[in-house]
Amino acid sequence: MNGGRIHAWLLAAFLLLALAPLLGGGWYFLHIYENALRETVANNLVQITNKKYDQIDRFFQERYNDITLLANRTSVQNAILELSQLWQAQGPHSPSYQRLSESLDKSMLSFLESGDYYDLLLIDKGGNVLYSVAREADFATNLFSGPYRDTHFAEDVETALNLLQTGQTIFAPYAPSQDKEASFLISPVLHDGKPIGVVALQFNWDRLASVATDRTGLGTSGETVLAQKDGDFVLYTSPLQHIENAAFRYRIPFAEVAVPMKHALSGQSGYSVMIADYARQSTVSAWRYLPALRWGMVVKIDTDEALAPLRRMQQLTVAVLFVLTCAISLLAIYFSRIMTKPLINLIAATQQMTRKNFNIKATPTGPRELRELAAAFNQMSARLAELYTGLEIKVRERDNEILARKQAEAALIEARDAAEAANRAKSVFLANMSHELRTPLNAILGFAQILRRDPSLTDEQHSKLETINRSGSHLLALINDVLEISRIEAGRTEVQNEVFSLTEMLTSAEDMIRLRAESKGLHFASLRDGELPRYVVGDAHHLRQILLNLLSNAVKYTAQGSVRLHVQAEGDNIRFEVSDTGAGIAEADLPRIFQAFYQTEKGAAQGEGTGLGLTISREFVRLMGGTIDVSSEPGKGSTFVFTVPLPEAEAPALSAPPSQVIGLAPDQPTVRVLVAEDNNDNRELIRLLLSNIGFEVKTVENGQQAVDCFQTWRPWFIWMDMRMPVMNGYEATKAIRALPGGNKVKIAALTASAFREDKDGILAAGCDDMLAKPVDEQKLLKVMGDQLGLRYRYADEVSGNASELPRSNGALDLSTLSPELRAELAEAAELLDAEKIKAILAHLQPEHPEIAKAIRIWTEVYRFDLVAKLCRNGQAQPE
Ligand code: ADP
Repeated sequence: MNGGRIHAWLLAAFLLLALAPLLGGGWYFLHIYENALRETVANNLVQITNKKYDQIDRFFQERYNDITLLANRTSVQNAILELSQLWQAQGPHSPSYQRLSESLDKSMLSFLESGDYYDLLLIDKGGNVLYSVAREADFATNLFSGPYRDTHFAEDVETALNLLQTGQTIFAPYAPSQDKEASFLISPVLHDGKPIGVVALQFNWDRLASVATDRTGLGTSGETVLAQKDGDFVLYTSPLQHIENAAFRYRIPFAEVAVPMKHALSGQSGYSVMIADYARQSTVSAWRYLPALRWGMVVKIDTDEALAPLRRMQQLTVAVLFVLTCAISLLAIYFSRIMTKPLINLIAATQQMTRKNFNIKATPTGPRELRELAAAFNQMSARLAELYTGLEIKVRERDNEILARKQAEAALIEARDAAEAANRAKSVFLANMSHELRTPLNAILGFAQILRRDPSLTDEQHSKLETINRSGSHLLALINDVLEISRIEAGRTEVQNEVFSLTEMLTSAEDMIRLRAESKGLHFASLRDGELPRYVVGDAHHLRQILLNLLSNAVKYTAQGSVRLHVQAEGDNIRFEVSDTGAGIAEADLPRIFQAFYQTEKGAAQGEGTGLGLTISREFVRLMGGTIDVSSEPGKGSTFVFTVPLPEAEAPALSAPPSQVIGLAPDQPTVRVLVAEDNNDNRELIRLLLSNIGFEVKTVENGQQAVDCFQTWRPWFIWMDMRMPVMNGYEATKAIRALPGGNKVKIAALTASAFREDKDGILAAGCDDMLAKPVDEQKLLKVMGDQLGLRYRYADEVSGNASELPRSNGALDLSTLSPELRAELAEAAELLDAEKIKAILAHLQPEHPEIAKAIRIWTEVYRFDLVAKLCRNGQAQPE
């Protein structure tokens, strides 16, 4: 809320609070005043009306008294009797009649004046007008038969004589009195209880007109309206303001008469503050019936005039209210300013504060509470300023910390990414290079060995060949280790748990090492815990490699004394301890010997090894979920201990060795197989294997040739190496698939990388299946059989004809060979000693012709690594 709004709100609230009662009070006062005024005006009128009524009533009361008095006077009785007799005797115009008449004048005139009457008349019972003070035309006439027999007067005289009652005629113009409105009071005169005539007092309207015209208390618009009923008509008997000459002339039908007069003529009395008069004007009227006259009387005053004080009071009230409203508004503005100014200042200060300006001070003004509020605000802002400054410092410190941490993290992430990228690049590079190096190295070593058999070589050449051989062997071992390390680093090495015979594995390793140790003049001791389980679950391949690494090192770095292996069970874990009495390792070297490529001085001086053996061993132990440790005393020997979980397992059921495929079934068609492989040796190997089974085989060296050959030769099946020069396997597969008939041919990928190629990528390129190198004959044939729906002939179908078994590398079971023999073969293979292998095979041939054949093939294509692996593991394992 801003200052303007507070101001407006407060102003509105003040005005509402102040003006609402004021206006309400004003209205209520006017309302009360109006009611009181109406009441007063009405009461006034009623009083005036009653007063007029009393005046008229009294007037008639007096007149009745007068006439009753007169009628009972003896002089009057005598006058009637005497005048009547004289009228009879001499007539009214006789001198004696006149004398008698004049003799009456004095007393009659004084009576007339005392009552302010117009005339006094004596009439005998025959209707003769015997006497008249005024002596107008009616004197000496007969009312019953004379010229005025039709007047109200004549009628009422007769009535008075008949009923013997005093009566009064209504006001009406009377001809003998120049048609002035006149009324007569008539009273019978009795003599000896018998009527002798009547006495009549004539009075004119003038006597009463003053009552009607008296406007005292009636203002300017007020008047007294009198009217009498005349049959179905009403005759107004008083002068009217709005109608000229109305008195005794203005006649209207009763139905059209104004309401107040209607009420009055109906004998009612009452009043109304707002009622229409004869001129349809709104009036305040009071009405009453006048029984003496049988008239209605309405006293009225125009509402406008009657309520004029109200209008004036209204104007005055409005003026007063207006002045008060202005004054209150000004006061409200003033007070709301006083109230809101400090508040607005406070709000402005608060807003400043939200903009982090804490030095702002609110000026303490206005009422005490607001001044206190401003002071409290100032205290609070000062405190906030303190806190904010502290907070700002803390935030700045925190920001700096966060920034530094973020920078450090970013640097770390960058470094990690760079390291990972470098690591990946290194792994890929090493893997590729290892693979590329190993194949030609096999050839170098193979040809070096062939050369060794050449009798024409000199001793010097022999010695150089030995150097080539030794260096080559070292290089091969190095490459194999590098390959293993790069696989581990790339996370491609997985633990493959299986049930295996721990005792057999230990025996074979021990046999191998014993040979080496003894050939060096060392004593080899093997100590096995009695509780050792026979079969365990674990990765036999990794375990064997760790053991051989440690034992080989022990032999390698021990000049004299002994090498000892101690194996014991610790629950589900097996603890292996390899100790020697060799040179030992300096304490400074201990933490470093597990680093890749690290060799101690003595180790390097040996000229053997790569510095990778312990690294690989530690990684394998870690992968298997175990720990490895070393302790050494320089000059006395070293002890390597590793413990890995190897839970005991049931002995595996003896399964029949898988039957060997020896050819296509007789009813199978001739199948054309194209082998696309850039590596000569591999290409030849596959060609040899497939031809032996009975396939029609063609070979090409790159993808382009494969595409061409597909078009000309139309093979049913293509083995496609994925890495080839000119055009790789991916492109060639896609190209073939795009050719007519390219969808029908079955294509299987051959992958040779140390890493598994992206299977999805290979299948997406259009291959139906894939096989990892080195080529396993049985797997090769299975893929083709599955894809083409082929049926084969198996070895167990051809009993007793072992000489027909084809050469094979896969699923060969070497467990039938003695461990010594296998160790010898493995060592010869590791040293790439083809001569020695051949010599051993010569011994093997008679009893194990198929093993001899298979090993010979590998030796011929320089795959010493596979031979070594086969001999060490007992069974050929894929790489
Ligand atoms: P290498 O191929 O050199 O043997 P390793 O990783 O197996 O590589 O060993 C690393 C180094 O540790 C060796 O160079 C050697 O100096 C030292 N070493 C390993 N085992 C022993 C041992 N039993 N006695 C003395 N030194 C050893």
